Amino acid sequence: MIDILKRIKRRDPGEKEFYQAVQEVMETVKPVLDRHPEYRQDAALERLTEPERIIMFRVPWADDQGNIHVNRGFRVEMNSAIGPFKGGLRFHPSVNLSILKFLAFEQVFKNALTTLSMGGAKGGSDFDPKGKSDKEVMRFCQNFMTELSRHIGPSSDIPEGDIGVGTREIGFLFGMYKKVRNEFTGVLTGKGLGWGGSLIRPEATGYGNVYFASEMLSTINETLEGKTCLISGSGNVALHTAEKIIELGGKVLTMSDSSGYIYDEEGIDRGKLDFIKRLKNIRRGRIKEYIDKYSEALYTETESLLDYNPIWAQRADCAFPCATQNEINEKDASNLVNNGVRLVSEGAEMPCRLEAIHVFLDRKILYAPGKASNAGGVAVSGLEMAQNSMRLNWTREEVDNRLKMIMKSIHQTCLDAAAEFGESGNYMAGANIAGFVKVVNAMLDQGIV
Ligand code: NDP
Repeated sequence: MIDILKRIKRRDPGEKEFYQAVQEVMETVKPVLDRHPEYRQDAALERLTEPERIIMFRVPWADDQGNIHVNRGFRVEMNSAIGPFKGGLRFHPSVNLSILKFLAFEQVFKNALTTLSMGGAKGGSDFDPKGKSDKEVMRFCQNFMTELSRHIGPSSDIPEGDIGVGTREIGFLFGMYKKVRNEFTGVLTGKGLGWGGSLIRPEATGYGNVYFASEMLSTINETLEGKTCLISGSGNVALHTAEKIIELGGKVLTMSDSSGYIYDEEGIDRGKLDFIKRLKNIRRGRIKEYIDKYSEALYTETESLLDYNPIWAQRADCAFPCATQNEINEKDASNLVNNGVRLVSEGAEMPCRLEAIHVFLDRKILYAPGKASNAGGVAVSGLEMAQNSMRLNWTREEVDNRLKMIMKSIHQTCLDAAAEFGESGNYMAGANIAGFVKVVNAMLDQGIV
């Protein structure tokens, strides 16, 4: 297995996020390979770590002053063994091939856990929507989709949102797809409610994260009621994680953006959360503005702090990293555990470095990897695809109940797979093993393709 990592490093130099994601999986699937020699014979790992297809393209667009900019667009189609490619689009200046390959690789396992038939993909651009006018974002999305539309379709590859891609961007992308292909299909998920979207899709990743955390707590006969919680981020996932925690009686102490974080000792209640929602989704403001309205709270800038992130040094019972990859390092992990945190449930993709995960596993706290705990978003995207195919709309309760059932099932699948391979209670091992076995078995059934 070390040879596989060496081979990847030789062929794809500099893709550190991708190596990290592959290494995390490799650390946990060795007992599976030992029990199934056919997986090694058929080069399952080699095939799983090589994308089926990568598309890279130029996206030129004009700003409001008529200046021309050139960004780069990507789609990494990682694996379609169990269903059509499915995964988000990310618009952020940090986007590059390494980040998208790690995200697409994670997506393969996550989608396999949802119980729905979806392969894994990820895409996006180094375009930064922050500070751009609606018209500039629209022009960018239209040019991006003009090229992407040649490679996707409702039965082949169905993108959705991620960092920097919300309902506004999905609308612009969908409008252009419809125009150039002359078809109204469920080619994107996360659509607006009036034009094919599903109820609960915006809430699904955050709600699912909290449903998963509740399942973990139930294994030690506890609930979220009265628990203090740290949340990072103030985007889609963070906002809906906070909303569900508040509904279940937990107390949210922190939220953040890429400039800093707020700490509210009295707790961010429903009314305060509504203020943050308006601030972020309508005014597109900064989290710092929270203290202008709620002066009892504290604001700390985090931009220049590389060594550790002070948000993770606060005393609390639970932590929900919901911003971005690698936001918790080893020192942050030790701070969390030393300050009383007994549960970490990842809303973001790979927010914890490998060394941080080892701290959680060594100290035996409840730790949920994102590929399990944040799978609710793509699961409800799968439900949106089902509704689009049937041309039906399910009620809010119906979608929410299905989401709850899916998160419960993912939780049980992780526990069972971990126990079967001698790793009881290790959700990371369980998620990796269960996803791996499902996808690899399908690949083997379908021959060397
Ligand atoms: P949003 O763009 O809605 O929000 C992202 C939040 O994280 C913002 O508050 C942003 O701050 C902050 N953030 C982003 N990058 C950084 C950084 N480098 N340092 C500090 N803060 C940062 O994205 P989502 O909420 O949709 O996604 C958040 C995470 O959840 C991502 O890892 C994504 O892959 C994952 N995820 C999302 C799903 C979904 O359904 N949306 C599904 C599954 C996983 P700022 O505004 O200042 O940039």
